Amino acid sequence: MEKAIIVGSGPAGLTAGIYLARAGLRPLVIEGMESGGQLMTTNHVDNYPGLGLVTGPKLIAAIREQAERLGVRFAMDEVTAVSPASDRVSVKGMIADYECEKLLVATGAGVEKTNLPGEARYWGRGISACVTCDAAFYAGKRVAIVGTGPGTTGAKAYLEKAGAQVVGIVAPGEVGEFQGDGQKLTQVGDLAVDGVFIVTARVPQTGFLRGVVDLDDKGFVVTQNRVLTSSPRIFAAGDCAEPKFRQAIIAAGDGAYAALAMLAPSANR
Ligand SMILES: Cc1cc2nc3c(=O)[nH]c(=O)nc-3n(C[C@H](O)[C@H](O)[C@H](O)COP(=O)(O)OP(=O)(O)OC[C@H]3O[C@@H](n4cnc5c(N)ncnc54)[C@H](O)[C@@H]3O)c2cc1C
Repeated sequence: MEKAIIVGSGPAGLTAGIYLARAGLRPLVIEGMESGGQLMTTNHVDNYPGLGLVTGPKLIAAIREQAERLGVRFAMDEVTAVSPASDRVSVKGMIADYECEKLLVATGAGVEKTNLPGEARYWGRGISACVTCDAAFYAGKRVAIVGTGPGTTGAKAYLEKAGAQVVGIVAPGEVGEFQGDGQKLTQVGDLAVDGVFIVTARVPQTGFLRGVVDLDDKGFVVTQNRVLTSSPRIFAAGDCAEPKFRQAIIAAGDGAYAALAMLAPSANR
């Protein structure tokens, strides 16, 4: 039986791995379909301390290299079910089954994509899902927001404060197609743009936890003391438990916090 399994290989999972490995637990990270997590889809990260402007894949590679050097092990698998018992947590993957004393869920929260033509092609090439992260790259440029609801108002204000010209807010049903020159997005609907921000609901990747730990109505893991779930052997960190501020540095901090909580005697939970 593993001492600790981490589900998810984004900043939260990798950072937790570093802490648990340094404590001698040799944790196993189950990577999931999106190895490295959401940052693998962006070329511009300028707010993670220490590295200046860096691509997401480069930042993740640096954290992962550190984790591997310290003894974190990785399994390419996708978790489909977990079931906690008094002395262990059983984890079912698509490829293998696992058992551990303690489990950390760090599965992130993906954007609800529109799945419209051109979206996949221009994702990260003019289409962004993170206003906080990417607004600064569009100062003096034309951008549109694709989405509905109150989030679009906040996004517009943030983009304008960053110096972008918001030329329209388009409901996903009115986009039709994302068009570009093959390399970069140039048009959404009938608007010529340099960029588009998708502002739709974030979807926590927590379906396999339904009925296992408490989730809120949107599927985010409900935590107490930052990382404790309603099941004593299961912890949560990063975007999957953070309905408000989803950033890499916050996820990494949560990962560190969760690892330390996992290392503490259960009386100190
Ligand atoms: C386009 C874009 C740009 C961004 N830019 C910035 C930025 O500049 N600065 C910043 O601070 N933040 C940025 N963010 C936000 C940042 O990426 C997230 O806050 C951060 O990645 C969250 O880390 P995480 O570890 O919680 O989850 P994620 O990075 O989402 O990682 C989740 C991991 O869980 C795995 N997983 C999911 N389900 C399963 C399963 N069932 N079984 C096994 N594994 C599973 C996935 O494969 C993945 O490895 C950006 C996000 C996006 C989408």
